[in-house]
Amino acid sequence: MEWASTHIQHHAHSDDEDDPHSPMEGLWHAHTGWLFAHKNNIAVYGTWLKKDPVVVWVSRYWFLFAGIGLLIPTLIAGWQGLLWGGLLRIFLTHHITWSVNSICHTFGQRDYNTRDASRNNFIVGLLAFGEGWHNNHHAFPRSAFHGLRWWQIDLSGYIIRAMEATGVIWNVYRVKEADQRKRIIPAKAEIMGD
Ligand SMILES: [Zn+2]
Ligand SMILES: [Zn+2]
Repeated sequence: MEWASTHIQHHAHSDDEDDPHSPMEGLWHAHTGWLFAHKNNIAVYGTWLKKDPVVVWVSRYWFLFAGIGLLIPTLIAGWQGLLWGGLLRIFLTHHITWSVNSICHTFGQRDYNTRDASRNNFIVGLLAFGEGWHNNHHAFPRSAFHGLRWWQIDLSGYIIRAMEATGVIWNVYRVKEADQRKRIIPAKAEIMGD
């Protein structure tokens, strides 16, 4: 609940002074430093999350999932499993996730006009399963897919498409080509095939 509330605040105030993790306050602040200055903001940005009993339950018992994520690799491979499959995995996935906030607001291409400094970064796109197409995400936050062009590798997007194709999920939101064209920076229009 806290992560989601922070993310909603980030969208509402991207790269202004109320952004919880903008690189305007420094790259380290945007990456990890913000966590140490962070105040609980669920009461302001996450009131609707409190109405979902599944979300409330997962939020309350998050340590069970974290614990199971350490227990399973330990059972499989002992101390080496705990180190490589547990601690190092958590270390890397956190830094990749935080890179969306730091690197993808500092380094990369801007294809769409947004009020913030969000960027599309190929390497973070690859490592963060699509989330590195962050300028796309800020331009179209409702889009189910971060990758909007065929060459923008988006592993989460492929999983969503597979789930849709097998009928597990439906009503998947896509941004219309015409709406993408309205927001594209003119010099970048060639990526739309213009
Ligand atoms: Zn952002
Ligand atoms: Zn977002």
